[in-house]
Amino acid sequence: MQVHDLTLMLSLWIASLAGATVLFVISKMTQTIEGTRLWSLAMLLLSFAYLAQLTMQNLDVQWRVLTFNTFLILGHSAWLIGTWQFVKRTPSKQKIAWLVLPILLISWLTATLVPDRELRITLIGVWLIAVRCHYAWVLYRHARQDKNEFLAARITVGVVLLEVSFSVLYTLQGALGNLPQIGEAFNWVAGYTWVAALLGILAGAPILLLLSAGRFVKELEFAANHDLLTGLLNRRGLARQLNELLPLSKRKCDSLTVMMIDLDLFKRVNDLYGHHNGDRAIVCLAEVLKNHFRSADLQARWGGEEFCLVLFDMQPDMAVASANKLQASFAKQSLQLGLQDTPLTISIGIACTREISQQGFESTQNQADSALYDAKHAGRNCVKMASMALSLLEENP
Ligand code: GH3
Ligand code: MG
Ligand code: MG
Repeated sequence: MQVHDLTLMLSLWIASLAGATVLFVISKMTQTIEGTRLWSLAMLLLSFAYLAQLTMQNLDVQWRVLTFNTFLILGHSAWLIGTWQFVKRTPSKQKIAWLVLPILLISWLTATLVPDRELRITLIGVWLIAVRCHYAWVLYRHARQDKNEFLAARITVGVVLLEVSFSVLYTLQGALGNLPQIGEAFNWVAGYTWVAALLGILAGAPILLLLSAGRFVKELEFAANHDLLTGLLNRRGLARQLNELLPLSKRKCDSLTVMMIDLDLFKRVNDLYGHHNGDRAIVCLAEVLKNHFRSADLQARWGGEEFCLVLFDMQPDMAVASANKLQASFAKQSLQLGLQDTPLTISIGIACTREISQQGFESTQNQADSALYDAKHAGRNCVKMASMALSLLEENP
């Protein structure tokens, strides 16, 4: 079966327009995901390129070629810039100018002032091959950390390799002057190149859509499980992590330690220095916690100015020593906040258990909370250990 160039152009136009619509909708739904809007614009620009081939067949070939190439260059540039944005490597205006302007100038010069079809096809072909390879490479490198994104990136690399192989043949034939004008006569290399381009859009648009949606879901999940002010886990996030970790830790760990930490007389800090400085103090304590404990330990903002830590395999005496060090680090760090009139201090309650389970955590957290209450009653700025933990300490001197 022989498929006419213009039939393929029609398919490309429909595919790119459908891709633009779907990506536009997802860009509206996931406003925070960078790159999606440009991907949608890229598909729209490409659809204009293919529409130009379909509708300008009766016009002067020079203007048709110029219009087609301009939209093709702008479309693929927007596709690449969108990908840079998506991987959080937003390019400078200068870099964008270097990507787009020289090739647009070449396209214009070789179509109008010094018409040279072979040179034009060669230069635009080489540019297009470089841009498509770079797009696949950027996505592939970025996606390595995430299993699903990596699968999408591998499919993209496969499709782009196919596209590029045909683009190389197309460029070579063009350079040798063996290509007919689009729509004039059927040429197998050109025909397969358009089929590969169609595959690029048919596979590319859903992949871009899935990448955007996947990123959006990840951001929502992060927001649902983390505290906005400190970036630590919130209570829900802690419960979720415990659900995942406790069954695994049961076999590997001997004990579970819970530390409840509360800023002392914090209402006064807010009253004296304002809510903004109160927030700074909370963030300062969170930063000290992040630096002080192992990444395997769980750190959560329990609520307000209260934090909960879950430490695995830490003996009670080590936990007390660690809590004392934490107090000293916070006292030092908080001096930098400039709230000199009120030295910031924390009270800490600790409890330990050998029962590595959800129930074990809940009862230990309650004991740590009572120990914190004792610390407040003992005059604040101190560490108290729950009595159950003391018995563990005696068992394990
Ligand atoms: P204590 O030593 O007994 O803990 O005294 P306290 O003043 O810290 O007592 P309490 O726990 O009752 O007060 C906590 C205060 O923390 C009340 C609330 O206004 C403030 N707070 C809670 N969340 C935030 C927050 O996100 N930012 C700021 N700035 N303040 C908060
Ligand atoms: Mg307090
Ligand atoms: Mg409190």
